[in-house]
Amino acid sequence: MLGPVGIEAVLDQLKIKAMKMGFEFNIMVVGQSGLGKSTMVNTLFKSKVWKSNPPGLGVPTPQTLQLHSVTHVIEEKGVKLKLTVTDTPGFGDQINNDKWEDHPEDAAERDGAPRAQHTSEGRVHLPPQLGPHPGLHQRAVRAVPAGGDPHHPPAPHPRHPRALLCVLRTTHWALDRIPFAVVGADREHLVDGRCVLGRKTKWGIIEVENMAHCEFPLLRDLLIRSHLQDLKDITHNVHYENYRVIRLNESHL
Ligand code: GDP
Ligand code: MG
Repeated sequence: MLGPVGIEAVLDQLKIKAMKMGFEFNIMVVGQSGLGKSTMVNTLFKSKVWKSNPPGLGVPTPQTLQLHSVTHVIEEKGVKLKLTVTDTPGFGDQINNDKWEDHPEDAAERDGAPRAQHTSEGRVHLPPQLGPHPGLHQRAVRAVPAGGDPHHPPAPHPRHPRALLCVLRTTHWALDRIPFAVVGADREHLVDGRCVLGRKTKWGIIEVENMAHCEFPLLRDLLIRSHLQDLKDITHNVHYENYRVIRLNESHL
C-alpha cells in the first residue's frame, strides 16, 4: 500500500490531469434592452484575459435578437477554462425568447440561493434571475448607463436594479465593493502609445481596465479568476476523496 508520500504524488498527478483537461463555466447576462449587456459581454471577451487572441475587435454590437452564446477557451496559469457567455435579448422586448430552457434545478435555485455548478452540459452556472432577488440588491452589479459618469453612477431603484448578476460566493473579498461601477467598451484607443479598450467621452477616454477609471477589472476577477480558484479547490477535494475511497477499498480486498 502507498504511504502518505505516495498518495500525495498520485493526487498531484490526478490534479495535473484535471487541470490539463480544463473546466467549463457558463454565464448568462439578463436585463432590459439597452443596458449595455452585449457590450459588457464583448468587453469581457476582449479584455486582457484574451489578449493573446482577441476575437473580432472593432465589430460594432448589433441589437441582440435571440439568445446568443459565445465560447472561448482561456488559459490562466496553465489551467484551461472553457467560458461560455450567453447574451440575451432584453426582457419585455417583443422578441422571441423561446430558447429559454428551464431546468427544474434552476427553478429550485431561483427560489433559494444560487449555487455554483460544474457540469459538462450547457447549463448556465450562474442561474438567471428573472427579477430582483430578495437580498441580492446589495449584491447587484450595476452597469453605468449610457452617457453616465462612472464615478458618480445614479443609485439603482431599489426594486429595479439596472443590471443584476448573481454572484457565486458571499465570502469573496470583492463583494464588499459591490455595486461595481463598470464601463463596457468595444473599441480600442491609443493612449500614450498603448492600445486600450475604452469608451471615448467628451471628458476623455474611460479605460475599462484602469481601476482609476472603473471597476471592470474587479468584476472580471470575481467572475473568472476567483471561480477558477473554486474549481481548482473542488478538483483537489473531489479527486482526493475519490482516490482515498479507491485505495481504502483496495486495501480491504
Ligand atoms: P443591450 O441591449 O443590453 O445588449 O445593450 P448594448 O450592449 O447593445 O448597448 C446599448 C447602448 O449603450 C450602445 O449604444 C452602447 O454603446 C451603449 N453602452 C454600452 N455600455 C455602455 C457603458 O458602459 N457606458 C456608456 N456610456 N454607454 C454604454
Ligand atoms: Mg444586446
